[in-house]
Amino acid sequence: MGLEITELLELPNIYVESYSKTDKGWLLQLRPLSDGMRCPGCGRFIDRVHQAPKVIIRDLAILKRPVHLQIPRRQFHCPDCQRYATEQLEFVDWRRRHTRRFEQDVYERVQHSSLEQIAREEGISPEEVRGIFEHVAAQSKKRLGRSGTHKHR
Ligand SMILES: [Zn+2]
Repeated sequence: MGLEITELLELPNIYVESYSKTDKGWLLQLRPLSDGMRCPGCGRFIDRVHQAPKVIIRDLAILKRPVHLQIPRRQFHCPDCQRYATEQLEFVDWRRRHTRRFEQDVYERVQHSSLEQIAREEGISPEEVRGIFEHVAAQSKKRLGRSGTHKHR
């Protein structure tokens, strides 16, 4: 069963271990598939997990039911340079609480809809919608360089 849900999710390098239906929607427990990461200090492959606190990341809805992903934020320790390094997940920007595709979706909807409307539909606050919009706008500006033009409200 897990494999089908993992395929449905279409996120790279993770496996859906289990899922449950809560009053807030679907909660999916994810497991990263990589054994470790490259130490940003010395480049050595490090696989000793120092800690892995679980974080909740919002993802796109499935059949209009909100989806939350529970992911261990793994911090590895490098025995060579005594550094701690936190694994980056390619589908979530650093320190964000939503997947990139969720934020992209909200960003696009802000072009046609009010912050309040989207907030209602997603069960989040208008401030959070604005925060997502501004984050995605800033990210795509970075990607496009100075030539990018964006609509702001
Ligand atoms: Zn190192």
